[in-house]
Amino acid sequence: IPSGKRNLLEGLTEPQVQAVTTTEGALLVLAGPGSGKTRVITSRIAYLMLECGIPPWNILAITFTNKAAGEMRERVSQVVSQRQSDAATISTFHSLCARIIRIYSDKIGLPASYSIYDSSDQQRAVKRALEELEINTKNFPPASVLSAISNAKNELQNASAFEAMAGDFYTKKIAQIYKKYESILNQSHALDFDDLLMKTVQLFREHPIVLAELQERYQYIMIDEYQDTNHAQFMIANALAARHKNICATGDPDQSIYGWRGANIQNILDFESHYPDAQTVRLEQNYRSTKTILAAADALIQSNTARKHKELWTDNEQGHLIECLTCRDSRHEARQIVQEFEKLNSDERIPWGSMAVFYRMNSLSRVMEDAFRDSGIPYQIARGTAFYDRKEIKDAIAYLRTIVNPADEINLLRIINTPARGISDKTVKTAQAQAVASNRSVIEVLSQPEQIPGLNTRAINSVNKFLDQLREWRRLIGLNETATLAAGYMSLPDFVEQVLEGSGLATFYKNDKSDPDRERLANLSELVNSAQQFTEDFLEEFIIDDEAADDAPASQQLLGFLERIALVSDVDAIESDQGSVTLMTLHAAKGLEFNAVAMIGVEDGLLPHERSQNDDNELEEERRLCFVGITRAMKRLILSNARYRTVFGQTMPTMKSRFFKELPEELCEQIDLSDGGFGDTSSDSSSSWGQTSSSARDSKYQVGMLVRHPKFGLGRIQQVSSSGGHTKASVAFNQYGVKPLILEYAKLEIV
Ligand code: ATP
Ligand code: MG
Repeated sequence: IPSGKRNLLEGLTEPQVQAVTTTEGALLVLAGPGSGKTRVITSRIAYLMLECGIPPWNILAITFTNKAAGEMRERVSQVVSQRQSDAATISTFHSLCARIIRIYSDKIGLPASYSIYDSSDQQRAVKRALEELEINTKNFPPASVLSAISNAKNELQNASAFEAMAGDFYTKKIAQIYKKYESILNQSHALDFDDLLMKTVQLFREHPIVLAELQERYQYIMIDEYQDTNHAQFMIANALAARHKNICATGDPDQSIYGWRGANIQNILDFESHYPDAQTVRLEQNYRSTKTILAAADALIQSNTARKHKELWTDNEQGHLIECLTCRDSRHEARQIVQEFEKLNSDERIPWGSMAVFYRMNSLSRVMEDAFRDSGIPYQIARGTAFYDRKEIKDAIAYLRTIVNPADEINLLRIINTPARGISDKTVKTAQAQAVASNRSVIEVLSQPEQIPGLNTRAINSVNKFLDQLREWRRLIGLNETATLAAGYMSLPDFVEQVLEGSGLATFYKNDKSDPDRERLANLSELVNSAQQFTEDFLEEFIIDDEAADDAPASQQLLGFLERIALVSDVDAIESDQGSVTLMTLHAAKGLEFNAVAMIGVEDGLLPHERSQNDDNELEEERRLCFVGITRAMKRLILSNARYRTVFGQTMPTMKSRFFKELPEELCEQIDLSDGGFGDTSSDSSSSWGQTSSSARDSKYQVGMLVRHPKFGLGRIQQVSSSGGHTKASVAFNQYGVKPLILEYAKLEIV
């Protein structure tokens, strides 16, 4: 073996070497958590380039998140040159499709400047559709309509196909809304996330030449986390691989946790029948976790009936017992976790950056966050989309989107009079009506304001002024011609700044009385920074492709920037090695690993989620989710539950998760800190009594009293009982019926 090769494969186990070096044909790497699947893909990329002489641009690796893609590129660049690793395509399905569509947009009747709609744009579009169809949002809530449309798209059913199979009244209505929603998106030159996949499949079907081109480009395809691909992704992968058949899928059916979003576990189970010549490699050694953690995870997942058994063992130490912590309430739980982490940090020198807290739902993060803030421990929350969801940022981005794609109605209407510039609601409504009637876009109608009935000279002037500004911006960034940076066009960060000023947004937020700290203004300047950051990354990529970044069209940067923003996901914002504890949902945690992990809210109704209680398939997915959480931990694992939890302002007794019972007793250390009561509720903000003794509380409330609850309003006490050191009451509320309440927590006011 030549020395380079030996280095590349050094430290890999025999089956891992086999997975890395089996480069031709179809290969399935079927293996449990922490067994090196992701590492195998990374090594394969380097191996293909260095040992097989495959040019980087012939290599395509697909990861589940942008963050995972970034890390993979980073690792590859440590072995090959930066230049080579940048030239390989390492991306998510969605980013890959967004780029393919941008390149071949004309083939599916879109401009390259098409918009990508995020969920809030989708909400607006579906509301527009409901309005135009005069359908009541009560009977057809936008969220459920969107989820029906999304399911259809994941199954590659377009609006007409959906309509054709719609039988009952409800489905027929959905079909109608789907059609209208599609026409709004078409009119706006916009695609939603699911469209990125569906349109790519359509492009492949209708344009075999395009597909052939891409098949030639991507001769070696690797897909990580294959167990969570949906039907559309399956079709895309197979289409791309159809010619060279060099496709390597890695995954673990026990970690399939996105069924609710259309992922189909069957894709990985059927891989071998789909590629009859496929080789299968099983990795059975886990490098991540202690024996204890691995055994607990294994015992848990055995309770799933719909699965094939996999062997998994580790050479790692036995390790500590799993801490099963029972606390009084969520605040107590949060304080306890913080204390545990402080201990791990000081006694065992586990760095903050290698600790994480997982929860089933985002709503559980707030109390945890408060506790970390109070303790002064650095922490970060995986909520990458939050920044881009802020109003001022959405406004700024809506400007950029409208500049790039003036047909984008949802974004145009968002900013046309924000900040106010004398274009009234009435003007907009009239223009909209005209647009619908004449089957034109709103911007087309607006570009001839004299022909809009009922507009006075002032209104016409305001519209013209706005349109002139839009044109000027388009000129500045070179959108109307193939302008290059070399020709003196504005850089992206300068342009973003120019738009913030020219639009009046900057001035508006400078003078915003409701924001004395100028936080919104600071966010806007952060957007300029992120444009700067993007430009640096972008130039690197471009130099690779073209040798001369200056020849790149100036507008390309803006398109790329908007694309990156549109596809950002929650985990993407997490910075590795930042020396802070990570807080994230279980779903976001997949693929990651931490020295110490705490899973909070391990209670029936949360994990497993309430929704899954009556459905065996969903219950098994919840168990897989718990399995994913447990197997992120390398050394230390804490599972916690609280005896009482406040949900929607109501404090209720909870039940320990059934999953606890499925863990072998000898692997767990049970620590019950709840004393069956409430030793210390004084710092609990939801308690209105502080230190008052329980006997005093008892005497305060009597059957028949009229009380007021902050959420349920007026009610009358029907029953008061005392047990386990606390007092419960049944209260009959005027509007919400009878509710059982724990008086220590319910902020009841005697009327
Ligand atoms: P998951 O299913 O959770 O995504 P995975 O199978 O992708 O896990 P990796 O993340 O690739 O597993 O690897 C888990 C850990 O084990 C990583 O820290 C990796 O560096 C390490 N590892 C993998 N293979 C080896 C090896 N042969 N020798 C030493 N460490 C290894
Ligand atoms: Mg992995």
